[in-house]
This record gives sequence, structure tokens and C-alpha cells, in this order.
Amino acid sequence: MSALIYDYNPEELSALLADWGEPAYRSRQIWDGLFRHFWQSPSEFTTLPKSLRENLENNLNFMGLEPARYLNSADGQTRKTLFRLEDGQQVEAVLMRYDDITGKDEGRQGRRTLCISTQAGCAMGCSFCATGQMGFKRHLSSGEIVAQVMYYARLLNDIGEKVTNIVLMGMGEPFHNYDNTMKAIDCLNDAGGYNLGARRFTISTVGLVPEIRRFADENRQINLAVSLHASEDEVRAAMMPINKKYNIDEVLDACRYYIQKTNRRVSFEWALIRGINDTRAQASRLAARLQGLLCHVNAIPLNPTTGYQGQPTDPDKARQFKETLERSGIPCSIRMRRGIDIQAGCGQLASRTQV
Ligand code: SAH
Ligand code: SF4
Repeated sequence: MSALIYDYNPEELSALLADWGEPAYRSRQIWDGLFRHFWQSPSEFTTLPKSLRENLENNLNFMGLEPARYLNSADGQTRKTLFRLEDGQQVEAVLMRYDDITGKDEGRQGRRTLCISTQAGCAMGCSFCATGQMGFKRHLSSGEIVAQVMYYARLLNDIGEKVTNIVLMGMGEPFHNYDNTMKAIDCLNDAGGYNLGARRFTISTVGLVPEIRRFADENRQINLAVSLHASEDEVRAAMMPINKKYNIDEVLDACRYYIQKTNRRVSFEWALIRGINDTRAQASRLAARLQGLLCHVNAIPLNPTTGYQGQPTDPDKARQFKETLERSGIPCSIRMRRGIDIQAGCGQLASRTQV
């Protein structure tokens, strides 16, 4: 298997081309072709001499992943693609449009938000998540993460549009694959390439404490979301095995450190599950634990998955949960569930279907 072109960052690409005896400016030309023209095969790089195109053809892989299947939601606002990787593993990515949505999700109109995967499967085993239910297959390389974005970037470019936001909330735990995830973001953020600003990215983590601290020390402009889902350790541990390693106090301490270091707000994710974590008592306890933290709670009624019995909270009860938090000064939004008809909602991504 030859190396994937998207696995190279600008410095590595320059070094490779220098090895091949090419002048330094060729590296920029290739980067430009990949990230501004969305070329996907060496033959399209007509700006390059034929010998270099042949070298690229013989030594590098320009695909990395192949779209195996896609599904559009009935409202046309969500599209999910299943990709097949070189070794046969599969991952999914989801594009969300925010065009006809009024009143809800304020301020998001016109966005093209892409939800991408960082691993095939996931090792964290959260009981309510389809990816967790399938277990861990492997980490994605940075290039495989980038390639998901470039696939959609190309589709959108064809209709004169651009990916405006990226959430690392697809399959996998991004902080378990820290280096590849950050390298992919750096490549997409590069001003000479796709040039998507750091603030347009959101990383969601299950709560890996050392990596939250590392992320804080790196002081990046990327948004951080932490999946909390419960305000008591017993409840959280029953849903999320990682809580036995890093409990709620440790996670919140790491978040406090992050806020102190970066002055940035943390989003806490909360999948509302009927009778489990949607009670007034849970909301009050959560509000108490979050006092003084620069944060926001993103609650979303649970999306159904085959391996989990829990039910989503009703809209009325979800509103009560939000009100309880807000009365205690903790901002909370109830997110709309999207793409449920095509199993594209949060936590519904898996690659059970062999194609
Ligand atoms: N591994 C990371 C990011 C991927 S999961 C993480 O766990 O944060 C993205 C988000 O979907 C997380 O907040 C996760 O807790 C949530 N999620 C998982 N399963 C869900 C489900 N069935 N319904 C709603 N949200 C879910
Ligand atoms: Fe992994 Fe996130 Fe799913 Fe938990 S919720 S199993 S960390 S993808």
C-alpha cells in the first residue's frame, strides 16, 4: 500500500519533494492542487511536469477512502456517506445543512457542518453509542481524516459552496488518536490550503483527562466539547466505562484548567435519557457542579441505537431540564435531532452493514 498524499503536512511534502530533487515551489503547487482545486489524481496536476506526475502516480495514493454508499435524509438537510478505507475498514461522515431551519439552532443558518470520524470503531465502549457498541477497529491516519473532508469539500465546491464548520464527533474518540487528529486539523487549517479557521473546528471528547490538559497547554483556538451525560459517578460509570478511570471531578478539574489556560468556553454534551439523567434532581446537581465554570450545556434527546434500551426524553421534560439549569445560571440549549431517518444522528454511526 503506498502512502496517502493527505498524510503529508506541508513540511513533510517539501522534504519528500526535496528527496526527489524537485524545486521547493513544487510543494506549494501540489498543496494548492489538493486543497484549492480539489484534484484527486496526479493526472489532474497539469501545472506539474510529466516526470513529477509519474513519480506521484507511482509512489503515492490519492484516494485513501472510497465512498461506498450514501444516504440523504428525507428533509434533504443531512447526508451521510459510508467510506471504505484501503484495508477494508469502514467509517462514516455526515454533512449537515442549516438552510430551512428557522427559530431553532439560531445563528446557524447557511452553515455546512461536517461531522467526521477519527477512528474505525471506538475503544471507549459507551453503552448508548452505536460506535461504542461495535468496538475498536483502528485509528485513522491524519490523511484518512483529511480525506473525508476533501470528499465533501469537492461535492460542495461543485455547487459553489464550502464546508463552514467541522465537528470531530463522528466515529471514534479524537483524543485517543490525538496526534493524527491534530495533524489533520492543522492541514485543513493551513492558510495556503483549505484555510478553514481553527475556531470552525469542534473536538468532542469522552473526557480523557491527560489529553484535555495537553490540549489546554497547546492553547489552540479549536472549540472543546466534553461528553458528560451524568452528574453522579455511579450513573456516568454505568453509561461510560471511562468514568472508572477519570471520574467527574477529575474531568471537571481538567476543564477548569483548560478554561484558565485558554479563556475559552467548554461545551458539555448531554444525551437526555428518560428517567436516567433527565430528572430535576440530575439537572440541579449538574448546575451545582458547573457553578463558576465558563461553560454551556448542549442537551440532545437520546438517539436510538440497536444495542441500548434507554428512551429519549420527551420535549416537555427536556425543556424543564433546560429551565432548571438556566435558573441556576448555566446556559443550556436543546439541540435538534437530525438525520435520525438515516441513522446519521449523534452516536448512531457504525459500519455494521457490509457493502
Ligand atoms: N468520542 C467522542 C466524539 C464522538 S461521539 C465523544 O464521545 O465525545 C459524539 C457525541 O455523541 C458525544 O457527545 C456522545 O456522547 C454523543 N452520543 C453518543 N451516542 C449517542 C446517542 N445514542 N444519542 C445522542 N448522543 C449520543
Ligand atoms: Fe466512543 Fe464517543 Fe461513542 Fe463513547 S460516545 S463510544 S467515546 S464515539
